[in-house]
Amino acid sequence: MIDLRSDTVTMPSESMRMAMARARVGDDQYGEDPTVNELQARLATELGKERALFVASGTMANQIALKVLTTPGDEVIVGHEAHVVWHEAGAASANSGVQFSVVGRGGTFTAADVEQAFKPRDHIVFPATALVAIENTHNRGGGIVFPQNAICEICAKAGSLQLATYLDGARLFNAAAATGVSLATLAGPFDLVSVALSKGLGCPVGSVLAGRSDHIARAIRARRMFGGALRQAGILAAAGLYALDHNLGRLSEDHANARLIAERIVGLRGIELDLATVQTNIIVFRLAAQAPSAADFVAQAKRRGVLLSAFGLRIVRAVTHLDIITEQCMRAAEVLSELTSTF
Ligand SMILES: *Cc1c(COP(=O)(O)O)cnc(C)c1O
Repeated sequence: MIDLRSDTVTMPSESMRMAMARARVGDDQYGEDPTVNELQARLATELGKERALFVASGTMANQIALKVLTTPGDEVIVGHEAHVVWHEAGAASANSGVQFSVVGRGGTFTAADVEQAFKPRDHIVFPATALVAIENTHNRGGGIVFPQNAICEICAKAGSLQLATYLDGARLFNAAAATGVSLATLAGPFDLVSVALSKGLGCPVGSVLAGRSDHIARAIRARRMFGGALRQAGILAAAGLYALDHNLGRLSEDHANARLIAERIVGLRGIELDLATVQTNIIVFRLAAQAPSAADFVAQAKRRGVLLSAFGLRIVRAVTHLDIITEQCMRAAEVLSELTSTF
């Protein structure tokens, strides 16, 4: 099987497992796990923030960020089809009592969109806008990089409206690889930022949240509240340190592989794909009216040895990653071409 469902399907390599097995550990809730501390310090520095916190998942990072930066009844401004809205089982309303105001198109938006959606805290009927959350890269938007000039303008506007800012950077490493811009620059304008270790970096578990020390102190409490405070988590953090050393430099291979698939399927009958959205390791395409539904298409591809994700009624996602080589991408493109010839 050529598994293009997600970059989360990677298996920890033998050498990553060795690093995990050898990790020095301690009780992280006493702050005594040296490997967790090393990972947190390293990512705090690389993200240009005061302090960082290891958490169990990207969803937990998002939920903690919402908890720290909002109060119940608040509103959060997000882009179209954000992970916090679509992929977290309604957690934001259950955990933090917030509602979302969705702005922009395709996952990106502008400072003008924020200004238009903003609702002041002292109004007698409006929910108070508290936070602007940005996803970079944007998953359902096709792995697109959120333009950094727009980010700077949005965060400046947010500052002038006294709104907090959060960067869901589950795939920020991909954004950095695609643009050549440093993690610290990408994360610079935000109060809090999260990055995932379990996506392109190939770790089995983990995300890291980074920001100001006072925010991270509150994040530690929220992590405990959500049941995510761990003990000898250095075994997991060791995978993160290993991945930063060994798996970061190769993300551009995933991007080239995604580009290869995209360029081979872009002209196919029944497939609607905007090549401009293929900027990193994700390909999101639409099936035209004469084509089968996404669920059908995905089932047919599976029978021919290619695993894809149905992301909507007629939307399909393919993701390249550490455990996929170029030859498999060529084969996957061939399979999609065979399938579309039957429409
Ligand atoms: C995957 C992802 C997350 C979190 O994922 P987990 O599966 O909870 O680790 C958060 N945000 C975005 C944009 C993602 O793609």
